[in-house]
Amino acid sequence: MSDDDATSARSRLSVTRREALAAVGGAALAAPTGTTASAVAADRRDPVLVRVCPGAVPLQARLRYGPDALRGDWPRPLRDALAAVESAFEQVLTYAGERERLADLEVRVEPGPSIRFPPAEMPLSADAVVPSTETLLGRFRDRLRERNALTDRSCHLLLHWSPLNYRVGYGGTVSPNALTGAADGGDAQTVANVGATEVWDSRAVTRNIAIHETLHTFLSSDIVDDLGAAVCDHELGAAVRTAPDTLRISPMATAYAGPDRIGGGTRFHGTGCYDHDRFSRHDGTEGIENWTYTTELSEATLEGVTRYLEDHLER
Ligand SMILES: [Zn+2]
Repeated sequence: MSDDDATSARSRLSVTRREALAAVGGAALAAPTGTTASAVAADRRDPVLVRVCPGAVPLQARLRYGPDALRGDWPRPLRDALAAVESAFEQVLTYAGERERLADLEVRVEPGPSIRFPPAEMPLSADAVVPSTETLLGRFRDRLRERNALTDRSCHLLLHWSPLNYRVGYGGTVSPNALTGAADGGDAQTVANVGATEVWDSRAVTRNIAIHETLHTFLSSDIVDDLGAAVCDHELGAAVRTAPDTLRISPMATAYAGPDRIGGGTRFHGTGCYDHDRFSRHDGTEGIENWTYTTELSEATLEGVTRYLEDHLER
């Protein structure tokens, strides 16, 4: 890749970085509309926004992250999740830039509004105690609408803290708002249950699940179909044996690379479809005792997201 390509990929994200730091530092959040539009050249379409929204983190949970985490919307695990999503799009834009693709598209990762669900608004049902992904994302969408945060071409990721919510699991998306820029207003909502990944697994899993749930909204089945043998998004991921007893897992394969049982890789196995034989690479689980995670996207994932951005958001 030329230095120019690398520089342009980086400069597209550097704005984002500054905004992220400003918001994390407690400055006012950027206005959801207007500000972003005026920052774009007049002959370009609005940027694609990936907005990472912090949910409520209870005090008991914050205590484990030290005194700094007691206040504010961004305790360490949430900040690390935001940085991971940024790094994923940095990788995609670098990959695309090296191939002179996505030249006309701006993608920005930025902190979104903090999301709170007042208990009083919850209906009295099982869904109030343990909301399903559908209920949670519906309520998330209502909050975004109230704040005028829907733009027609944004992905909104909720960093949710609910370690015991087995219905949401590690997270997910729900149709018809599962793809960015596709249906019903064009905004996608997705949730990463960082409470679950933190309590049951590790920070590395938190990072990868934040990326995983975001990228689901930038991977459509027609494009995944076109990429080799994959029939679902998870199969674009990679699980690489780095030592005889160690497997290193990429974001889209996270929670799907191990055997389907408690403690197979992540503490809980993902519930969506997958077949290890169709992964872009899977070196097998026999003899594996150490499960490690990398935020580095597999080439199949980079290609899939790039193609999605080209087909659905650039043209
Ligand atoms: Zn998934």
